[in-house]
Amino acid sequence: MASKKVYSVCGMCTVRCPIQVDVKDGVCTFIQGNPHAAGINGSVCARGSAGIALIKDDERPQFPVIREGERGEGRWHRVSWDEALNQVASKLKEVTAKYGSRSILFSDRGGPFRDLYQGFVRGLGSPNYSNHDASCARNVHHAAQSLFGVGREELVNDLKNARHVVLQTRNIFESINVKEVNDLLDALDKGCRLTVIDIRANVSSTKANNFFLIRPKTDYAFNLAVIHTLLYEDLYDHAFADRWIQDFKALQQFVRPYTPEWAERETGIDKDRLVSFVRELTEAKPSVVWHPGWMASRYRDSFYFCRSIYIINALFGSIGAKGGLPLTSTPSDVGRKGLQKFAELFPKSQEKRADGVGWRYPHFDSGAGLLQLAFKAIETEDPYPVKAYIAYRHDPLTGFPDSEVLKRIFQKLDLIVSVTFSWSDTAWFSDVVLPLSPYLERESIMATKNGLKPYFFVRQRAAEPRFETLADWEIICGLAKRLGMEALAFNSAEDMWNFQLRGTGVSIKDFDASGMVPLSKDPKYRKVEELKFKTPSGKIEMISNKLETQGLPSLKPYEPAPKPGEGQFRLTFGRCAVHTQGHTVNNMLLSKEMPENELWLNKKVGEGMGIADGERVEISGGKHSVTIKAKLTDLIHPDAVFMVHGFGHTLTTESRAIGKGVLDNALMTGGLDLWDPAGGGMAMQEHFVTVRKVK
Ligand code: SF4
Repeated sequence: MASKKVYSVCGMCTVRCPIQVDVKDGVCTFIQGNPHAAGINGSVCARGSAGIALIKDDERPQFPVIREGERGEGRWHRVSWDEALNQVASKLKEVTAKYGSRSILFSDRGGPFRDLYQGFVRGLGSPNYSNHDASCARNVHHAAQSLFGVGREELVNDLKNARHVVLQTRNIFESINVKEVNDLLDALDKGCRLTVIDIRANVSSTKANNFFLIRPKTDYAFNLAVIHTLLYEDLYDHAFADRWIQDFKALQQFVRPYTPEWAERETGIDKDRLVSFVRELTEAKPSVVWHPGWMASRYRDSFYFCRSIYIINALFGSIGAKGGLPLTSTPSDVGRKGLQKFAELFPKSQEKRADGVGWRYPHFDSGAGLLQLAFKAIETEDPYPVKAYIAYRHDPLTGFPDSEVLKRIFQKLDLIVSVTFSWSDTAWFSDVVLPLSPYLERESIMATKNGLKPYFFVRQRAAEPRFETLADWEIICGLAKRLGMEALAFNSAEDMWNFQLRGTGVSIKDFDASGMVPLSKDPKYRKVEELKFKTPSGKIEMISNKLETQGLPSLKPYEPAPKPGEGQFRLTFGRCAVHTQGHTVNNMLLSKEMPENELWLNKKVGEGMGIADGERVEISGGKHSVTIKAKLTDLIHPDAVFMVHGFGHTLTTESRAIGKGVLDNALMTGGLDLWDPAGGGMAMQEHFVTVRKVK
């Protein structure tokens, strides 16, 4: 029997942990974390270990199909790859000839392999590359940019060396990133303190020294009171603030009214507990990580909430500090040349972006753009018609609110293409479905992990595809060939990797030993004197000109959070440890672990409504009503209900997921128009629902 071990990269969520796959006679038999990767220590999460079930799944798209009948009807005819790619290429040419290349929109889920897709979109001549980030971390990214001049990924959360970690809207032990989990567990073993601030007790809070059950949408108030305490009790790092914080006085004046007493009225958190928590945190400075969060597309002021987190970190002197938020190093920061980029094969389009980012909204960073605004542009044809859409491993019909509105908007498109390894509502509504090989059956481009110790890594193909599916590069390069983009029309993965590695001093063979090539020997912590912030002043800016010139305040006064009306609850959602949004709920192993979601409802409130634990209740939002099993618990704020996101599938192709649980987005009527004007993120937890016992 032929056995081998293949170094690859997990694809069960967007974290992309390095893995090692055991393969016997061409079949993947076991997955573990790459034992050579620091912080991974051979481990994967439950989802990562269920990757083999994804390969075995016969309910995924097995061959390319083209739509027959109406969009969304689910009538398809099977075609060869040649026919499918020819069809997509000729439709793209047709749309380009009629409306110009700018009329093509592409979205993906971000991540380390996006350079290939960005190269493709540039090759098409369109400025409209976008990803899902508006429904995820865009507010965090823009908050970092407004203060430091660099994005969120240019700061590391040095959990391993932290002495106090604060998780606020970041549920590390359920929304898992294996390295973050391992690093935090190591730190906790060494005595690091953990504080969790949330509207419900989650797994992270079970490991915390302090847990604050906060009233929904009042996190910003809590943080303003923390800043007030730091400044007015003189607990902040003076040397750091004097050297690095620009417009410190403006901050001081701004937070003067936001006392712990004031915050108690808003948040429901005892003022003395807040003050003693801040004093406790101060003892750990500068090795404090107040985690800036991840999915912060929650409220209409989430951008300012994210800014407040970064400001608190700066006041502890954590920015740049070991055990705090040191600056990320890129290959060039450690004296090495980075990978050659596919995006640089073609000139950047000079056209304006359809979403208005960079011109109508100059305070937003391009890159991921704002997909909800690109969708609006499809509807309004302002600034121009957008007529073709490629959704690459992306399902906006379940990831964004208002799927019925979105479907109406999508009807204005001449072409919808879905590249996917699993069925999704967006794939079902597409004209052409191009089935992607699951990650264990495909290789991907090489990528760089920037951090304290940057490295290159590669995803190797562990097994040959079971069905007629292709790797991402085979699809992109196949289209590039048909569209005359010769520079991107690679014939083999090796050709592509050699292109990327040109001039780096690294060869493909160098990945054999561990699947990764480290670019420095030791982690690099830059000295505080060496910190460089890319703001106009070179400092951390409390007042951002970019915001102010757009009429947006840099320091936004707090607006009280509305209380839910009689019989209403704020709808909140989040993650669990065994599912990645909607991508895994039909997985044959993971669906058994958690087949459906439940509605968390405060026990006292629920009992007052005559609802028993485990009983089915009707939940209504906007025009939609659905039924779901109630979970009565003391561990959620009475103003909110909560459910795990990703359930409520309706496609007949997914026998394990169909009819199980509820999709939270379905209850967010009008949500496509609700977004944070300063940070760009969707405001997906600004919806109120009613709950009633089903008779
Ligand atoms: S966190 Fe889990 S699912 Fe995500 S990449 Fe890592 S092992 Fe895979």
